[in-house]
Amino acid sequence: MRIVDNVFVVPGVVANPYILVDTDGLTLIDTGLPHSERKILAYAAGLGKSARDVKRIILTHADLDHVGGLAALHKLTGARTYASKIEADAIAAGKPSRQTNSSGFSVMRLVFTLLRPFMKATPFQVDEILTDGQILPALGGLRVIETSGHTPGHISLFLPAVGVLFCGDSLVTDENGIHGSRRGLTWDDAKAREAERKQAALGAHIVCSGHGPVIMDATDKFPS
Ligand SMILES: [Zn+2]
Repeated sequence: MRIVDNVFVVPGVVANPYILVDTDGLTLIDTGLPHSERKILAYAAGLGKSARDVKRIILTHADLDHVGGLAALHKLTGARTYASKIEADAIAAGKPSRQTNSSGFSVMRLVFTLLRPFMKATPFQVDEILTDGQILPALGGLRVIETSGHTPGHISLFLPAVGVLFCGDSLVTDENGIHGSRRGLTWDDAKAREAERKQAALGAHIVCSGHGPVIMDATDKFPS
């Protein structure tokens, strides 16, 4: 689905992967659960792009539903791969970057626990470590925003030129708007709130989350 010119979300994949189309090729943000690579590349093919057109793969964090397709996609595309240091270490170990600290029941936790034996992330060494404020060469500059809280090394990505924020799981969206990181899956609640405030201040018009619909008129929908 087209979000704005040259920015797309791949439908039918958990968690939402996003594709940015620029003259030098494609940038992919997150890679879905394991075995999502076919759906992602089929969507790119629908845009007239081949696997080899994917030049960059950026991971917001090391959870399985974001890095599941990474190893396979890297093999098929040869793309350069990026994550923060903490998340890169976890991805290299084939594990999430944190234990969740809530003892409360959560459907997502239960799902992860049940799926864990069947859906392991392939350990993968990313090429490049990203830090806060770094700008990647996609669509006039894709800015890395440190948004730890959901996980210790979580990053978001912001396209100031069009006001589009890719928030991974640091924010969750639904038909009612934008919410904070899901409690049962959050590493540090206080840091997660800080990441919410930081992102609310960016002036994003459009919020693209890992889970939930794209929010098109986002300005006054951030959690208060
Ligand atoms: Zn997720």
